Amino acid sequence: MSKDAPIFECLALIGTGLIGSSIARAARESGAVKTIVATARSETTRRRVAELRLADKVADTNAAAVEDADLVIVCIPVGQSGAAAKDIGAHLKPGAVISDVGSVKSAVVADMAPHLPKGVHFIPAHPVAGTEHSGPDAGFAELFVNRWCILTPPEGTDRDAVARLAAFWRRLGANVDSMSPEHHDLVLAITSHLPHLIAYTIVGTADEFSNVTRSEVLQFSAGGFRDFTRIAASDPTMWRDVFLTNKDAVLEMLGRFNEDLSVLTRAIRNGEGEKLFEHFAHTRAIRRGIVEIGQDSAAPDFGRPHARLPDAPLPRPYASNDD
Ligand code: NAP
Repeated sequence: MSKDAPIFECLALIGTGLIGSSIARAARESGAVKTIVATARSETTRRRVAELRLADKVADTNAAAVEDADLVIVCIPVGQSGAAAKDIGAHLKPGAVISDVGSVKSAVVADMAPHLPKGVHFIPAHPVAGTEHSGPDAGFAELFVNRWCILTPPEGTDRDAVARLAAFWRRLGANVDSMSPEHHDLVLAITSHLPHLIAYTIVGTADEFSNVTRSEVLQFSAGGFRDFTRIAASDPTMWRDVFLTNKDAVLEMLGRFNEDLSVLTRAIRNGEGEKLFEHFAHTRAIRRGIVEIGQDSAAPDFGRPHARLPDAPLPRPYASNDD
């Protein structure tokens, strides 16, 4: 197969929001598939998907979307995965690869697998890439470039099918890794789910802080708060489902976090400067490590453009004589 040849003939996307529409854009631009069929739950979103020309065909139902597909990717909130699998199960082409993009894997496997027929290849996946925006307008083709896509194929899955799905994600610019659904959920609980919970908490706490007016919280947000607000603006449906479906792993990580927070609380109370310094020096090194492996920009303040200095007095030779 030439390196630019399509990897799949027909891609069906169940759900065309941020992730589904980014896959559609990237798959088309990279030539990873020949044709794309897309659908969404509401007529409004389906109409928008057609207006944006994200797919060759927009189907009215999940079942109709998958009929000709040799790759189906379910891109909907994880709490809906079981219902979607039930919709499509009887309509899948024999030999098709069925995947998803859900941020939680064990629950998705448990919900989807019982509805899928023998003779299709079920390979759950999670592209670890996203933004705080939702819907088909929010997607962009470059979303997955240099990001990781984690595959969690059940034991005994057809190797050729796994290799083709991995090749598809690589064509979209992603790096690909494989692990068990349980391990995925534990790793993501600490790297993604807990940070979101902390952001949701701190933004709520600041909002309720009665001694400081809300305008002051917003006014002085550059002190760190605004970076939490970006994460706390993430889609409420998606994140409700993540915490409901990855409960055990999140509670495990939350227990560890609370213990570590108590240690730092005690260090502050007891004035243990050295302990605080050592901890902060260690975490600074972790940030540098993330930059070094290309998972974030080295630019200060996440590369935000900084305003110019207010007008300074003109240099001496051109200054007026009135001063
Ligand atoms: P989104 O922008 O809100 O889009 C969700 C899409 O799913 C919409 O098109 C919605 O249609 C459709 N949908 C919902 N229920 C459906 C159903 N039962 N049948 C068919 N379509 C349905 O969400 P997203 O950010 O793309 O997230 C989708 C999935 O990606 C989630 O599982 C999430 O965990 C995962 N993920 C998200 C991110 C991220 O940063 N956002 C990153 C990685 C993975 P309507 O508009 O008509 O409701």
